[in-house]
Amino acid sequence: MYACWERTGNPKIRIGRIAQDGTIETSEAMSSLWRNRTVTSNPVCKQCRYALYCGGGCAVLAEGRTGRLDRNYCDGFGFRLRAMVAEAYTDHAAGKQAGRSVAPLCDN
Ligand code: SF4
Repeated sequence: MYACWERTGNPKIRIGRIAQDGTIETSEAMSSLWRNRTVTSNPVCKQCRYALYCGGGCAVLAEGRTGRLDRNYCDGFGFRLRAMVAEAYTDHAAGKQAGRSVAPLCDN
């Protein structure tokens, strides 16, 4: 069992496995690492105004850049969010309907 499909296949980083007898064995260390990777545990994200929108970025890309899964991965999220908000506001002010679907997402 893996926390992310980008990291499947390496037994050292799996969060658990299903044994031959059907029991589930978990790796507390890896499970804890993934579960505790939040914007409140990361000192950079903790100070970031976009933290609750961004979520800290991709762990796998953070590992590629820094060598650690628990680091933040800033990929221009703040810039993209500001640009999208500005565009949405401009469209709204111009009376345009954003490319929003009005179709219901479910039958309820
Ligand atoms: S933009 Fe960077 S610092 Fe801010 S929440 Fe995202 S990853 Fe963390």
